[in-house]
Amino acid sequence: MAKRTGYWILGAAIVVGVILVIVNFAVVRHWLAVHTGTVNESGPYYGFWSGFGSDLGEATLIGAVSVGVYTGARKVNCHSKGCWRIGHHPLEGTPYHLCTHHHPDVPVEGASIEHILGQHQKFKDAQAAALGDQPAS
Ligand SMILES: [Zn+2]
Repeated sequence: MAKRTGYWILGAAIVVGVILVIVNFAVVRHWLAVHTGTVNESGPYYGFWSGFGSDLGEATLIGAVSVGVYTGARKVNCHSKGCWRIGHHPLEGTPYHLCTHHHPDVPVEGASIEHILGQHQKFKDAQAAALGDQPAS
């Protein structure tokens, strides 16, 4: 209920903002011209390309790197909601990758060689059982 009220308030604020921009369009246009450097210069676009426009390449680069980092982080991080650890461990039978903290079969404080070999033995026994053989020893 509170979430729906928040959306209505946000929508009303956006509508009011758009109406204010339309009503004061000349003022907004002048403010934008001053802040992008396209007014009171020798040519119509000299100030723009000398000021704000000269930063477009950097803005593009920073934007592309930011999107790449965000996408990479979203792809490799743990699939548990809200967890930003790297999800190294696939959870068998699911399309999900989990971090050490959330995966049920990976010990949080690091796996000993006995634990790793025990897991491997369990896998081999399950494989042999699936084939109808005796458990491997
Ligand atoms: Zn996690």
